[in-house]
Amino acid sequence: MDLSPLSGNERLKDRLSRQERGRGLSHAYIISGPAGSGRHGLARQLAAAMLCTGQGERPCGRCGPCLKVLKGVHPDVSTVTGPEEGKPITVDQVRALRADAYIRPNEGERKVYLLEGADRMNASAQNAMLKLLEEGPPYAAFLLIAGNAGGLLQTVRSRCEELTLTPAVEPVNGERDQERRALAEKLAAALEKSGELELLETSVAVLDVKRSREELSALLDELADQLTARAARGGDRRRLLRGLELVKKLRGAAMLNVNGGQIAGWLCAGMFGTL
Ligand SMILES: [Zn+2]
Repeated sequence: MDLSPLSGNERLKDRLSRQERGRGLSHAYIISGPAGSGRHGLARQLAAAMLCTGQGERPCGRCGPCLKVLKGVHPDVSTVTGPEEGKPITVDQVRALRADAYIRPNEGERKVYLLEGADRMNASAQNAMLKLLEEGPPYAAFLLIAGNAGGLLQTVRSRCEELTLTPAVEPVNGERDQERRALAEKLAAALEKSGELELLETSVAVLDVKRSREELSALLDELADQLTARAARGGDRRRLLRGLELVKKLRGAAMLNVNGGQIAGWLCAGMFGTL
């Protein structure tokens, strides 16, 4: 399994790769770690591995299902968040999820549910979840994203495999600027030169990481600067200017709470006109 988005966390990568090659992936995981530790990237890779139809290592990152999962448009992958910003998932939402889980998958062999802030669900929501973990249909898989797995009932934890991500080291200011420049450089190069798949992989790796709105906007600003500089140096102007126009539009979306993963998908769709 290609888990390159998990830059650190070597032992976790090994364990999942072995699991994928051996008895197959589990039907329920708790993915815990602080914001910015790559929980969503890992969840996406796991969902892709579960739905991948490629040969060999999964997720292959190339087949139709993998691309749909990476773009966030696979009909058999659902993300459940609380009813309002900052509110935990409710028992009613878990019941609705249960009803949905019994409807067979649309396209794939499995249905994957990603539950945000699972550790903040109250006891009744968690108990409803427990039932689903115990008796849900065999094709359903659940990825519980948690800040702290300790917030989940022991009964729920015992039904899941736990994947604990260690936080990325918090960079100090100068390092943060440097890191932002390096990321923008990588993405600007991909926008200028890469094919669709490579661009998608690069933009997901760079953008689909939990960041504050301000950081995401700063990254897009840096990207716009680099695209302008590349165009001035006489690169592929047609692609660079198209990229620049898209980045400026998406910069506005970033301030409206759109996440980096969606922006990555839109960027590729905009460059290659596939959506
Ligand atoms: Zn695949």
